[in-house]
Amino acid sequence: MNHPASSNAALAARDLKHLWHPCTQMHDHDIAGQASVPMVPIVRGEGAWLIDADGRRYLDGISSWWTNLFGHANPRIAAALAEQAGSLEHVIFAGFTHEPAIELAEELLRITPPGLDRVFYADNGSAAIEVALKMSFHYWLNQGHGEKTRFIALTGSYHGETLGALSVSDVALYRKTYAPLLLTPFLAPSPDAYEGEPGESAEQVATRRLAELRALLERHAHETCAVIVEPLVQCAGGMRMYHPSYLSGLRALCDEFAVHFIADEIAVGFARTGTMFACEQANVTPDFMCLSKGLTGGFLPLSAVLTTAGIYAAFYAEHRAGKAFLHSHSYTGNPLACRVALETLAIFRDEPVLERNRALAAHLDRRLAPLRSHPHVADVRQTGMIAAIELVADKATRRPFPATDRRGLRVYLHGLQQGVLLRPLGDVIYFMPPYVTTAQEIDLLVDSAISGIELAVAG
Ligand SMILES: *Cc1c(COP(=O)(O)O)cnc(C)c1O
Repeated sequence: MNHPASSNAALAARDLKHLWHPCTQMHDHDIAGQASVPMVPIVRGEGAWLIDADGRRYLDGISSWWTNLFGHANPRIAAALAEQAGSLEHVIFAGFTHEPAIELAEELLRITPPGLDRVFYADNGSAAIEVALKMSFHYWLNQGHGEKTRFIALTGSYHGETLGALSVSDVALYRKTYAPLLLTPFLAPSPDAYEGEPGESAEQVATRRLAELRALLERHAHETCAVIVEPLVQCAGGMRMYHPSYLSGLRALCDEFAVHFIADEIAVGFARTGTMFACEQANVTPDFMCLSKGLTGGFLPLSAVLTTAGIYAAFYAEHRAGKAFLHSHSYTGNPLACRVALETLAIFRDEPVLERNRALAAHLDRRLAPLRSHPHVADVRQTGMIAAIELVADKATRRPFPATDRRGLRVYLHGLQQGVLLRPLGDVIYFMPPYVTTAQEIDLLVDSAISGIELAVAG
């Protein structure tokens, strides 16, 4: 029995009185508003499910912003966290260290592509991007190349929303307003297969886009520190997917033109795309690999930037040389977060996660296949445990619906009624479920998406 003070309505009212939520026009939650969006207070999580204050259950089809891997309140991870909290919650990470941070670095270097040799911790994805950008710039400065001050990013990219990370992002929704505050990157056209010419294969798009990147590097490599990409899937930009050959071509171009390759695996790392890391599908080792989100199984904020011994060496000198890397967060290497990350990686060692994901991904693919012929679906695409449906006004020309229609929002609201959490990116309906989701639960997600799409495209 719910005491009224802890009901959905009571908690939502208190929330809306004082809180300011991310990625939200708070007016959408105005109860008197027309298409009012509910504020849902969650009290408990269990497997792939979230349970609200009135006892209603929601299947988390997006892993709570792509963080969760092995279920909410996963008992094994929760126990590791409790144990760590009882011994060491935090310690300054300059001059001091601890075993969870050491062991996590060792383990990350063991499982990531060969050639990475150093780990720098930060406490969220955007902070990891800031670290990688600063480290790349500072490496070149220490090497006597202070003229390298620019970055190359892909169109449609998303790397976070702090000013540096937002600078190398190209999603207008997040970037446009703040553009006057930002660095200006060179934009290389994304190898996104959806943007290919009619009849062009994903691999052909990648080849063509690499030629365009080469042209950009020919003009600007001398002033460029690094090329930053989201390997295989540009997530926040609409789950746009591309062929792995782009990554091997990118690796070769970065070597040829002496610029760094920054792989932002914050969303795609940890088995999301069918391999432990997306870069594996192109057999490449980047100069910097940024990890976060799934790193702690969705429990705590933590990020890591992995780099090579060669890059590290450019900072290693007598103190008076003034070459040390300077970037410090109070919670760097937090022991609770590191311990939770270690337990998450232990689950990968103990359970056949990749195999199970392959079976689940195949099931999802089968269930989505019929949508390909839907008159308002321009594309159904999938890479491992990420699948997306592109809704359009006109299938033949791929003309989108006017953004002001907010059709994706109808899918979201319908999902909540059905007990499913799907949170479309504009008119792209996507699935990024926790790895503990069952085939039956996948069916529920897909059924809700299909009925939601019918509502969304009507009228
Ligand atoms: C989410 C995300 C980030 C930013 O991570 P935050 O922890 O939200 O700051 C960066 N890059 C990619 C690819 C992401 O998906």
